[in-house]
Amino acid sequence: MAKEKNVYFFGDGKAEGDAGMRDVLGGKGANLAEMTNIGIPVPPGFTISTNVCAEYYAKGKKYPAGLEKEILTVLKKLETVMKKKLGDPVDPLLVSVRSGSAVSMPGMMDTILNLGINDKSVKGLAQKSQNPRFAWDAYRRFIQMYGDVVMLVPHEKFESCLANLKKSRKVSEDNDLNAADLEFLVNEYKKLVKAHSKKDFPQDPLEQLWGSINAVLDSWMNERAIKYRQLNDIRNVLGTAVNVQSMVYGNYGNDSGTGVCFSRDPSTGENIFYGEYLMNAQGEDVVAGIRTPQKLSGLVKTNKKVYEQLVGIKNKLENHFRDMQDMEFTIEKGILYILQTRNGKRTGTAAVKIAVDMVNEKLIDKETAVLRVSPAHLDQLLHPMIDLNAQRSARVLSKGLNASPGAACGRIVFTAKDAEDWHKRNEKVLLVRKDTSPEDIGGMAVSEGILTSTGGMTSHAAVVARGMGTPCICGAKGVTVDAKHVSIEGKSFKEGDWLTIDGSSGEVYEGKLPLISRDISKDKDVTAVLKWSDDIRNRAVRGKIKGFQVRTNADQPSDAKRAFDFGADGIGLCRTEHMFFEKEKLIHFRAMIVSDTKEERKNALAKILPLQQNDFFGIFKAMEGRPVTIRLLDPPLHEFVPRDKKEIEELAKYLGIKVKDLMPKIEKLAETNPMLGHRGCRLAVTHPEIYDIQVEAISLAAAECIRNGIPVDPEIMIPIVVTARELKLLRPNAEKIIKMVSEKTKIPLKFKIGTMIEVPRAAIRSGHIAKYADFFSFGTNDLTQTTFAFSRDDSASFLVSYLDQKVLDVDPFKSIDEEGVGFLVAYATREGRAVNPDLKVGICGEHGGDPVTIDFCYRAGLSYVSCSPFRVPLARLAGAHAVLRNPGEGGGKPDVKKTAKKVAKKAAKKAAAAKKTPAGTKGKKTAKSKAAKSAKAKAAKGKAEKPAKAVKVHERTKPKAAGKIKPRAEKKAKSGGNKKKSAGSKKK
Ligand code: ADP
Ligand code: MG
Ligand code: MG
Repeated sequence: MAKEKNVYFFGDGKAEGDAGMRDVLGGKGANLAEMTNIGIPVPPGFTISTNVCAEYYAKGKKYPAGLEKEILTVLKKLETVMKKKLGDPVDPLLVSVRSGSAVSMPGMMDTILNLGINDKSVKGLAQKSQNPRFAWDAYRRFIQMYGDVVMLVPHEKFESCLANLKKSRKVSEDNDLNAADLEFLVNEYKKLVKAHSKKDFPQDPLEQLWGSINAVLDSWMNERAIKYRQLNDIRNVLGTAVNVQSMVYGNYGNDSGTGVCFSRDPSTGENIFYGEYLMNAQGEDVVAGIRTPQKLSGLVKTNKKVYEQLVGIKNKLENHFRDMQDMEFTIEKGILYILQTRNGKRTGTAAVKIAVDMVNEKLIDKETAVLRVSPAHLDQLLHPMIDLNAQRSARVLSKGLNASPGAACGRIVFTAKDAEDWHKRNEKVLLVRKDTSPEDIGGMAVSEGILTSTGGMTSHAAVVARGMGTPCICGAKGVTVDAKHVSIEGKSFKEGDWLTIDGSSGEVYEGKLPLISRDISKDKDVTAVLKWSDDIRNRAVRGKIKGFQVRTNADQPSDAKRAFDFGADGIGLCRTEHMFFEKEKLIHFRAMIVSDTKEERKNALAKILPLQQNDFFGIFKAMEGRPVTIRLLDPPLHEFVPRDKKEIEELAKYLGIKVKDLMPKIEKLAETNPMLGHRGCRLAVTHPEIYDIQVEAISLAAAECIRNGIPVDPEIMIPIVVTARELKLLRPNAEKIIKMVSEKTKIPLKFKIGTMIEVPRAAIRSGHIAKYADFFSFGTNDLTQTTFAFSRDDSASFLVSYLDQKVLDVDPFKSIDEEGVGFLVAYATREGRAVNPDLKVGICGEHGGDPVTIDFCYRAGLSYVSCSPFRVPLARLAGAHAVLRNPGEGGGKPDVKKTAKKVAKKAAKKAAAAKKTPAGTKGKKTAKSKAAKSAKAKAAKGKAEKPAKAVKVHERTKPKAAGKIKPRAEKKAKSGGNKKKSAGSKKK
């Protein structure tokens, strides 16, 4: 067996890896290789693959055989390229050791700079560079990082050492310390290390190297990395790669520096070059907030040549990766180096703007643009802002950097832990801190907003908050935070006080201001993305099923109208109970349920009929001819029974009988377990008049609409069916009424009649039920309750423990349980369609608005999903993602009608033919672009279908027994910040 390659070199203009090798090299390593290959100035180095990390953990923290030799060999190569040797006392090679896994987890793991320096080589470095200050600065930084990360000396100890020195030297900035000061500091640091770890600081560069590699591998399993993966639902990633890279020095002096930049503004998405830098600084200084970084535009003055070169590289990288890039750079004595590039995390606003702009700039196609905007991004746009009127009259306490948009108000807490504790008590909290660090992400995730007194736009708080979609203000002026108290421009606040922040403007307000949400239906860019999403969904073809619709759950005309404005294709669930519960209707209904005779019951219901007819008319009108699924009465009779004395007296009076005669009738209606009791179509089996008057009201409303020129498409849905015989009995009743109204009004009426599948037995018997149903709608709330035998209302007490202890991966009421409930859905869909090929199938549970469930529904062959009006835009987008991510299901490039194989074949043929066609002819151009297009489609497909060998972000899908359904396609790597609860970090 050939030995597996574990280490990949990059440098001298070429690399052994490339951007496609993320899984093996990690994101950082793969892009360092890619940049090297395309001629970007990257300091040479090598990447130890993620397999090593996987093996390291599999073997109980031992390295794969032969790794040591491999590393020594590649290190030789690096020394040859750099013409320097590690540990050379005269002209030492120094390296950084950097982590980086396939899924970007910025700052969650450790990095060490200036490795290879020791008591001897520091002098060589000082001599060679003619810059002793720089050499001692490099050494003290190395001891600080290595001491912290490898030797586990708390970093505050180094900080206070440094602070003491500055105090005694009477200087305020690190940069004001001279070479002698720093040499002194190195000795102090070494003493500190010795005292703390009982070991001397290691002088052997190879020992340093292995110590650092170890530490980086260990950091894969540190608490904050684990928490980050949990928060972001990152699973089955092999591990971290380790990048060993020759150092370039931003701390040489004032002709050197370091910075972070974005090819477009990550907050607004505007196409402006954006970033921050510091002269005479190294690595982390920019983001650590030790000194306030300068705006990138200032670099034009500092060094125009370098700035222009950076602009060129930014353009090249953006064109190459066809996405907004987040880059790290270092300038060493006027020479520019790029240390990292990745697809930048961005706000929802920026995601939409960048996606649309890049389509207009012909950088990406519409499908890619749609995939670049995640449902979580869109969700952010629905984030509240401060009510304008309230804002005008409110006083701005302070202004800071608008680090993450959206407004938030909450009660002040000062630690991440407090944030979590208060959140558990259902308090809305606003985290107020000097700055944040990776340990704080748990508390940041539960905060409404974050306010820090220090730090820039690339500080930890800013990056994390943007990723999470949490409003955030950084570096707020005049804000001083101490233990449990904050003073804002002289005004004092304590824990628990209310504060409001506007992360879009950077303004801080006292108290609790009213927040309102923004109208995304009027936003041009959002509208464009949603329109493209609709096109993708509408063009999708899965066998006989055309399109993949998004409907809404709406009971009232006002909800229907809102959903319609949000772009709903119809109503998937219109509940009718409110049509009985309303005050003026309830008394009649109550009279009905206590009536003894059919006649009495009919009379009571007749009073409700015109009122219901009005309700239906309003809904039909709002939906302008789109399908409207109306569920006939569902809740248990029990719920209508009058309870208090006043209600009972009222009913007795209405009926003209005595209370004591009414009581026995009421008592008879009591149920021990109403949710499994007399409800749904069981009501119609015992009291057919109920559904009769509902169907009559629907029919009359429809007839009235048609008479007024309003098109209608009602679908009558019968709930809680368990056997085909219920439908066999009830369907003709409904048809009879429709026919009757049609004859009476002389308006032809034809409605679909179908059923909800919300009980396992119904799913199992779906093949029979489909004989009497024109459609199925999965009521997944009840189907989840009845499949699990968990009551949704009572499950909170144990579900948390189930999730904590991994008995369940996700709350089955939030995201569909694909293995159980999903199995039933897929099975019933297949069995139902086998009997009735035209069967329309949809979902109307709360799950219908969950992106993961939407993807499942697409794979399961559902015709539509239905969700609450506010989630309609998200579902439109998520539906398009489902289509694009599951090309095998008829998705992919939706305009490519034929199967991918056929197209690929044809394209290959054409491309071959094109080779023979003389250049410049039209034929060549078309063939080429088509071939390219299909190659791209194939690539997209490959990406989407890539088996989860290394990275698999979501993996909850194995409904194998359901047969025809494929597991959920790979979610694209989340480097675009595509997830609401994602985090960044202090380090960039
Ligand atoms: P993170 O993942 O936390 O961003 P990095 O590995 O990217 O950590 O490194 C942290 C900082 O150190 C970055 O600012 C990076 O640019 C800088 N850095 C890393 N390697 C080198 C190097 N070889 N020379 C100069 N600076 C480096
Ligand atoms: Mg790191
Ligand atoms: Mg970095």
